[in-house]
Amino acid sequence: MKITDVLIIGTGLAGTYVALNLPTNLEITMMCHHSTNSTLAQGGIAISLDQKDSFEAHIEDTLTAGRHTNILEAVKTLIESAPDQIHTLEKLGVAFDYDAQKKIHATLEGGHSYPRVIHAGGDQTGQSVMSLLDQKVESAKNIQILKGASLLDLVIQNQKAIGIVYEMNETIKVIYAKHIVMATGGLGDLYEHTTNQEGSTGEAIAIAAFAGAKCQDMRYIQFHPTAYKNKDKGYFLITEAMRGVGAYLLDAHENRFMDYIHPLKELAPRDIVSKAIYDVIESTKKPFVYLDTRHLKTAFLKERFPNIYKTLEKDNLILGIDLIPVTPVAHYTIGGICTDLMGRTNLENLYACGEVASTGVHGANRLASNSLLECLVFGKNVAEHIVSNHENTSLPNYSMNPLDQWKHTKTTASQNYLIHKAYIQEIMTKHVGIVRYDNQLKLAKSKLTHLLHQLKNVRFDHVDHAKSYNLVSVSLMVVEDALAHESLGCHYKEKESEKKGLKSC
Ligand SMILES: Cc1cc2nc3c(=O)[nH]c(=O)nc-3n(C[C@H](O)[C@H](O)[C@H](O)COP(=O)(O)OP(=O)(O)OC[C@H]3O[C@@H](n4cnc5c(N)ncnc54)[C@H](O)[C@@H]3O)c2cc1C
Repeated sequence: MKITDVLIIGTGLAGTYVALNLPTNLEITMMCHHSTNSTLAQGGIAISLDQKDSFEAHIEDTLTAGRHTNILEAVKTLIESAPDQIHTLEKLGVAFDYDAQKKIHATLEGGHSYPRVIHAGGDQTGQSVMSLLDQKVESAKNIQILKGASLLDLVIQNQKAIGIVYEMNETIKVIYAKHIVMATGGLGDLYEHTTNQEGSTGEAIAIAAFAGAKCQDMRYIQFHPTAYKNKDKGYFLITEAMRGVGAYLLDAHENRFMDYIHPLKELAPRDIVSKAIYDVIESTKKPFVYLDTRHLKTAFLKERFPNIYKTLEKDNLILGIDLIPVTPVAHYTIGGICTDLMGRTNLENLYACGEVASTGVHGANRLASNSLLECLVFGKNVAEHIVSNHENTSLPNYSMNPLDQWKHTKTTASQNYLIHKAYIQEIMTKHVGIVRYDNQLKLAKSKLTHLLHQLKNVRFDHVDHAKSYNLVSVSLMVVEDALAHESLGCHYKEKESEKKGLKSC
């Protein structure tokens, strides 16, 4: 039986940053089961550094994007703590891109009133930051990383999180911990079309909810406007910074349609651009619009966006010369496990930070490039709270045996999980997208509920059933929240009568 001081589920920016901000006398165990979205981040980190910019302007932009439904204290904490965290990253060795005046270069992205998105490696901010932080956690003597481990359940006693059940190498095990941090990222992979890594399915949110953790705003799934369908792989994000340096969006007739939709045109908040593209796609029946960079210099684009350039070049598309077909896809999870500003959930000793957490900072629609910052600021706060609380936290009482209900569970590989996942993705894509209709949401709910009932009685028979049960549960959380509330941002709820040809359920 393993006991650790701090257990961090997730090795993305949020989890890694918590680990690196904890003292080395604490024994830390981290775990992960798929590659992180943090590594994929392109555009950068939003921070107001320039004297002509201000915290107030960044706060206002965040509130405007979030439809003023954000928790103001969370927004202020995010933005005002940003300089300290960027300073820490630099001290750790992250090399941000500099301009000719030897200042960190900042670029414009959608919804920002000032160029304030700093970046590294051109369009490889996530890779640049994570490769360095990964090395640090891998070499730390007090940190053990369990790779290929899947969280299955939380162990709760008297409203207190005391451990987890997980599967690794076809064995189900338990770990007890004084502090447990959920840093498990978002759920974009519940959709057929996403920018997210395979495996980003958000099941940890359902697991936390089963344990009694409060969750909120699950309906708010952000769709990124400009994903390119790779010829041999899935969808590849083309950063908003491309529009920040001047790229246009064109319809099938090569007209700039954003001119008529928002004063900020292509740099309007993300949900407005995604909906505009959705409408163009609906009316033209072509499954994409074009990103046009033909008025920009190829040499500049190649230097500024080396990774995007290389990826498109493999498909014989050259930035600055060719039109790039793009479409909106599922990208970022705004809702999740409710936390306060220190990352505390309503369950004692259970924290959440990064994309899985819901502090209310993004309101109804996240401002571009505020999420890496969220991982840093709230990750640091979690570490601080753990340190301040560690002496008062007693070793968990592990008299109960959480493995009892798993003792007959089969763990040998099967196809069931993948079959269930594909079915769930189809439902979410068809019925729970950018434009939502009540009857479609009800249809999704009834299909998912049916699957949930099928899985309920067999969930401890096979680990695949347990995982499928968690997937269908988190999907239902999204659908039920969407049915119960208006969509104030991210996506749109329209009346059934406005869409022809939809069958009622
Ligand atoms: C293509 C792309 C580009 C982006 N660009 C930007 C950008 O430029 N700027 C910006 O601010 N944001 C950007 N984002 C968003 C940002 O990258 C993410 O919100 C952020 O990195 C999330 O970090 P995280 O640590 O919370 O989660 P992740 O980095 O996704 O890490 C999640 C971790 O949890 C683990 N995990 C999950 N479930 C389980 C489980 N059941 N058991 C065990 N382990 C589990 C995973 O294996 C992984 O280690 C981008 C996102 C994508 C997909």
